[in-house]
Amino acid sequence: MSVTVRVPAKVNVQLAVGAARPDGFHDLANVFLAVSLHDEVTATPADELRITCSGPDAAQVPLDRTNLAARAAELLAARYGLEPRVHLHIAKDIPVAGGMAGGSADGAAALLACDALWGTGASRAELLEICAELGSDVPFSLVGGAALGTGRGEVLTPLPTGGTFHWVFAMADGGLSTPAVFREFDRLAAGTDVPVPEASEALLAALAAGDGAALAGALVNDLQPAALSLRPQLAATLDAGLGAGALAALVSGSGPTTAFLAADPESAEKIAASLLASGTCRTARTATSPAPGATVL
Ligand code: ATP
Repeated sequence: MSVTVRVPAKVNVQLAVGAARPDGFHDLANVFLAVSLHDEVTATPADELRITCSGPDAAQVPLDRTNLAARAAELLAARYGLEPRVHLHIAKDIPVAGGMAGGSADGAAALLACDALWGTGASRAELLEICAELGSDVPFSLVGGAALGTGRGEVLTPLPTGGTFHWVFAMADGGLSTPAVFREFDRLAAGTDVPVPEASEALLAALAAGDGAALAGALVNDLQPAALSLRPQLAATLDAGLGAGALAALVSGSGPTTAFLAADPESAEKIAASLLASGTCRTARTATSPAPGATVL
């Protein structure tokens, strides 16, 4: 018997970053939107914990205990006094180290898959607690849809969405390390007054109304200058998407994936084709949001 869980990637439609706290973390106002790019994690009984991965980016995924899927299985097993005797296979379609929370997605998916396989019957609140222990972005991967994350991003408030948004994602060569992007943010912010991060009312209203044009005007990523500083070539990708008719363009999370909001599915296809032809990215994919969170298939 095995259990497969499908889990979405995310884009941050607002990522407001506060000054570095004494503990090194940053307070965030983080509006997450789940998008229809998915990983699937399959849990099968095995003699010991084992991780395998398939997909175009599989070579960049660690197969040891640092994999968030492995850590999720270990945390759940420890809590219920079990041994994590499970083979977790990750069918990976979310770009690795792309600022789309792929590792977090696999953590949430593995947790749900092991919970179902072992019949632990953990409550939703307990699963969310384990997710928060795994990482700031992991609870959202479980919940999906749209949500505001505050604190380090892990305190979630679900948000209403009034329609479907159309996206194009341009994947860059190589990844960007999230901690390195935050360090660059701190370097660029040194000596400036960093405002306290707050959710944008205009953005929440655009999401609730399902209004793509209004959302385009409200998209904001405070990490974008830092990502562009580390990867100046991303500016050409952003320009190529805007030139092809995107309503708005931004770096996804800590990058280097770039996200383009399109007016409709046809426009999204055209933008994806132009981005590919521009030679400024490795690949371009269309997707829609919101998407449901981690789901047992
Ligand atoms: P975020 O958007 O949450 O900052 P990301 O999308 O930029 O994350 P991930 O794909 O989650 O980045 O990978 C970041 C690093 O985490 C990888 O370089 C890899 O070493 C490690 N990692 C751990 N588990 C996984 C996993 N299941 N899939 C991919 N990377 C993983």
